[in-house]
Amino acid sequence: QAKTAGRSTLRFFDPDMQAAVTQRATLEGELRAAFAKDEFLLQYQPQSDRSGRVVGVEALVRWRHPGRGLVAPAEFIGLAEETGLILPLGRWVLNQACKLLARWQSDPYLAQLTMAVNVSSLQFRDTSFVEDVLRVLAMNGAPANRLKLELTESLLVENMEATIATMEALCAHGVGFALDDFGTGYSSLTYLKRMPLTQLKIDRSFVRDLLTDPNDAAIIHTIIALSRSLGLEVIAEGVESIEQRDMLARAGCHFYQGYLCSPALSEDALQRFVRDRVG
Ligand code: C2E
Ligand code: MG
Ligand code: MG
Ligand code: MG
Repeated sequence: QAKTAGRSTLRFFDPDMQAAVTQRATLEGELRAAFAKDEFLLQYQPQSDRSGRVVGVEALVRWRHPGRGLVAPAEFIGLAEETGLILPLGRWVLNQACKLLARWQSDPYLAQLTMAVNVSSLQFRDTSFVEDVLRVLAMNGAPANRLKLELTESLLVENMEATIATMEALCAHGVGFALDDFGTGYSSLTYLKRMPLTQLKIDRSFVRDLLTDPNDAAIIHTIIALSRSLGLEVIAEGVESIEQRDMLARAGCHFYQGYLCSPALSEDALQRFVRDRVG
């Protein structure tokens, strides 16, 4: 039945679907307005080394919704991508992150930190992306070699040559690249080798059951071996327990991010967190 209906047939008789459409339209309107109302904010999740020292942060966007409180990115990034709103939002995120990165430079401890920023593929594909990133860095007086852009594997397979060209243009200025949620997509090893990457980021889903699922443990060992042979740093995300961290350390993982160290923090809380740990 559905197969013969044809692609152009509109079907609006499903009340659940109608409700979803309305809800989506509401969310889209609110998302557009959120910009003008300055409702977005960034939080920063620490990344630590084996000794527990904070070496960097990942900037994570949140939406302070008037009725719903702090909304997680999973609830609006997808829609922002579909509607193109991710372009101005992504630029805003990058600007905020670079502003903070510049401010850190006058502090002996904070100046050492790297700032990781998530970049969605639509943003990365934008013809002015390289120019935008360099301008935002320069405008804020932020050091390019402290900025790390997090890309996902899907981006790499879409248009390899253009992706490499964009990465190399930024890499020449010192910008680093992390491959986010690594292991959940499908990267060809040849491509990985050609890409100017700094870091592989082991996806949280492999870390979660690391202690009980031998397959996850095997995958983690493989990713770490791979990063070593490619000369890349490796960081694990979603590290929640000491046992997970110890196991990762034994497997040769360099860096950790997760609730064990800290959840994402406000700018002020992060500064206190870093300074407290330096002693
Ligand atoms: P991600 O880049 O993989 O970020 C890590 C996510 O894992 C964050 O969720 C973080 O809060 C969460 N997390 C960190 N440690 C733990 C842990 O120990 N246990 C568990 N269960 N979770 C942990 P969040 O902030 O909700 O972000 C979700 C995703 O939204 C991010 O995944 C990223 O893909 C996307 N995102 C966030 N900010 C931005 C942004 O500015 N731009 C774009 N394009 N995407 C963003
Ligand atoms: Mg990320
Ligand atoms: Mg990730
Ligand atoms: Mg993830």
